Amino acid sequence: MNDRAPPSGQPRPRRRLPMPGLVCRDAARLLSEECEHRLPRWQWLLLRIHLLICGACRRYAHQLRWIREAARRKALDEAARKHLHRSLDTREP
Ligand SMILES: [Zn+2]
Repeated sequence: MNDRAPPSGQPRPRRRLPMPGLVCRDAARLLSEECEHRLPRWQWLLLRIHLLICGACRRYAHQLRWIREAARRKALDEAARKHLHRSLDTREP
């Protein structure tokens, strides 16, 4: 008898579908690396396939994009403010 078979009359436990190529931990690492540099084409492809399949990693990717955009906007705002201060300081009376 198979030890993994459920007792008769009970539904089989649901199994998650195997995700080809990457596990979520690897996908999270690649998403972080992608923020810093361009991924090799094969890693980029594996990551995109994983993101098609995995909703949790898609949400994580979305959050990373949001944080990166917010940081970029903050940096631009500060650069603009410094530029404005500099131009006001050097203006002749
Ligand atoms: Zn995942």
